[in-house]
Amino acid sequence: MNRRDFLTASAVAGLAVCAPVKAHGEESGAAGMPKLTPPAKPAKLNLSLQWGMIPGGAINQKLDFLEANGYQAFEIPTGDWLLKNTDELEKAMNNRKLFIATACGPSDFSYADENRRNQEVEKFLPQIEKLGQLKAVGLIICPARGKPELGLKELRADFVSNTGKRISEKAAECGTLIVLEPLRRNETPFMRQVADAACIARDIGKGCAVMADFWHMALEETSFMGAVISAGPLLKHVHIASLRHRQIPGCDGDADNYVDGFKGLKLIGYQGAVSLEGGVPKGQNKEELLKRMCDLLRAQWEMA
Ligand code: MG
Repeated sequence: MNRRDFLTASAVAGLAVCAPVKAHGEESGAAGMPKLTPPAKPAKLNLSLQWGMIPGGAINQKLDFLEANGYQAFEIPTGDWLLKNTDELEKAMNNRKLFIATACGPSDFSYADENRRNQEVEKFLPQIEKLGQLKAVGLIICPARGKPELGLKELRADFVSNTGKRISEKAAECGTLIVLEPLRRNETPFMRQVADAACIARDIGKGCAVMADFWHMALEETSFMGAVISAGPLLKHVHIASLRHRQIPGCDGDADNYVDGFKGLKLIGYQGAVSLEGGVPKGQNKEELLKRMCDLLRAQWEMA
């Protein structure tokens, strides 16, 4: 069979396969579009702030602000802060409608020296226990920043079967997760897209999930909706910022359009937090900008 015969035969075979589908019009969606299966539980927009962004000083003051201003979740720091404040925070969370999304801080599993990689794993294990105690969604992990000492292939293999795997197993044991965060190309050559992170999370298995940071995605993804769908049920957290200067959403005018990403979140029935990770423009009123952000994100969620 030459190439032309092969193509003709393939086209006929294709028609034969397509024909029965065409005969059953009810199998396809409106105007021939594919029919989508709605998620079992409809997605929810849970607005969230990082700890340093929440107005107020004492723990209870900050939680009061969140509840009074329509937030559902928040992020906390990792490291000493987490180790020292877990009990007080757990107490303060009694009878609150809020949930603790993630803990966010530096991490690096790309050292050439195995001992340093082990130290990094050991550093996080007690923090994972605290996050389990707090019923937090998980610990954000960026496996490598800057110039990794390990080659990228070796880094992936080691993270999937050793460093990332060990922390994920601990997380599963404690009822929490590690949440992989893809970064921009100027921050890391390793794990820049949501689909790549989701694939690593799938390879690690139990205790490992992924997040989508709309700021990083603006440079790295061709489609916010596509990126979100590629993570599907592995997507457990979202960061959001204005898309030109990484400030509070709304500060960059028309550029701050999240509707496509929100469509993706609705399609996968997303239940996690959408958490601000961005700065406040100099000389502007933070609380006013936060209020405008909440209105903007709720309006775009409705549009999605
Ligand atoms: Mg982020």
